[in-house]
Amino acid sequence: MDCKECSDWGTRQQIIRLGHKPENFPCLCIAYEVTKKCDQHPDPFDCPNLIIIKLDDEYVMPIHDGGSAYKVIHYCPFCGTDL
Ligand SMILES: [Zn+2]
Ligand SMILES: [Zn+2]
Repeated sequence: MDCKECSDWGTRQQIIRLGHKPENFPCLCIAYEVTKKCDQHPDPFDCPNLIIIKLDDEYVMPIHDGGSAYKVIHYCPFCGTDL
């Protein structure tokens, strides 16, 4: 299925299922990324699959070098929305 409406719908449902409100985030792609959970890595900085993490009021991209370094992002890397 390659319909944007359908994938947006699925994304929205997953966010809601995890107990979050999509409208609390600047865009759906960010909401999806920051609400993702990993069973194997309780600390999101340890997980290579988590690209974006919300830290306080900032959205950051962890630098997976074994530490907890990160880079603050100001625009969504997927759709360009101003964060
Ligand atoms: Zn993981
Ligand atoms: Zn986005």
